[in-house]
Amino acid sequence: TLILGLESSCDETAAALVTGDRRILAHRLAGQEAAHRPYGGVVPEIAARAHVEVLTPLVEQALADAGVTLADVDAIAATAGPGLIGGVMVGLVTGKALALAAGKPLVAVNHLEGHALSPRLADPALAFPYLLLLVSGGHCQLLFVEGVGRYRRLATTIDDAAGEAFDKTAKLLGLGFPGGPAVEAAARAGNPRAVPLPRPLVGTAEPHFSFAGLKSAVLRARDAGVHSAGDIAASFQQAVVDCLLDRTRRALAVADGATALVVAGGVAANGAVRAALADLAHAHGLPFVAPPGWLCTDNAAMIAWAGAERLAAGLTDGLDVAARARWPLDPTAEKARGAGV
Ligand code: ATP
Ligand code: MG
Ligand code: FE
Repeated sequence: TLILGLESSCDETAAALVTGDRRILAHRLAGQEAAHRPYGGVVPEIAARAHVEVLTPLVEQALADAGVTLADVDAIAATAGPGLIGGVMVGLVTGKALALAAGKPLVAVNHLEGHALSPRLADPALAFPYLLLLVSGGHCQLLFVEGVGRYRRLATTIDDAAGEAFDKTAKLLGLGFPGGPAVEAAARAGNPRAVPLPRPLVGTAEPHFSFAGLKSAVLRARDAGVHSAGDIAASFQQAVVDCLLDRTRRALAVADGATALVVAGGVAANGAVRAALADLAHAHGLPFVAPPGWLCTDNAAMIAWAGAERLAAGLTDGLDVAARARWPLDPTAEKARGAGV
């Protein structure tokens, strides 16, 4: 099978062609960093406009790269949420139009499911169930992945996402946008033990996350004017790693039957995060799976792959499917959260 994937939920516009046997025939991506940089963050209106301008050309380029036409495609997979609603609508409407024009099925993909299944695109040996640390710009969750469409949320953040913390720290330290790679680069020249920073929630029974206090501590450290940006960045990164590690260790204790420890989402591109989790998996006698960096940050290959997995499971969608700004992977957990965490 051959799947065309479209992604437009945040500030990356992307199109990719992926086969059911994991061959990535083409993947095209247009970032919008330059357009958003003056504002230090993603501006939804600018993002939606940019998606409109570049998505169709990206689809044409991806088809040309792969040497195929729309007629060769078995299904169109488009991100249908969660994300910035204007951008999600651009990708989903484009997917619907292509599906209608070509007479192919549409698969409306949850962007988080794209991240969650991306490790299976990267590693053919990765089987269900696995424990997934999903760390991205908008989410920080531990999920027990039982199968396609079957996600049990064990934990989430009670305030900021990990990627958000990286982005805010980068902004506070004047390191630029997007923040994650900038903080990681600055941290290389710094001492991770130089600045004492908190490890929120570490040691608590439930494996939830919190990063808001860390951000405030970074602000205080910066204003104290004692430490270099490199030392603050390195100390911040170490604090995040320590939190992710402690929480994931705790989740492993309840993730009965997990065949692997897996990390996905933009923050999974971070070398320190990957190294720490690899050690943790090793200590538990579990394989560790992390997609290559480009497959961790937003891309359309993971959407095409999630489309391939859903198509194989018989899960396609009607052309009336709606774009969703919010769309939890585990709706039962989300409901529980209304009553506390
Ligand atoms: P979500 O997937 O939750 O909807 P998103 O799509 O905006 O959010 P991703 O593209 O998956 O998020 O990830 C982007 C985030 O990953 C940003 O916060 C970015 O700073 C962070 N990130 C990217 N590379 C790195 C890195 N090397 N180190 C740390 N963080 C990183
Ligand atoms: Mg992005
Ligand atoms: Fe994402």
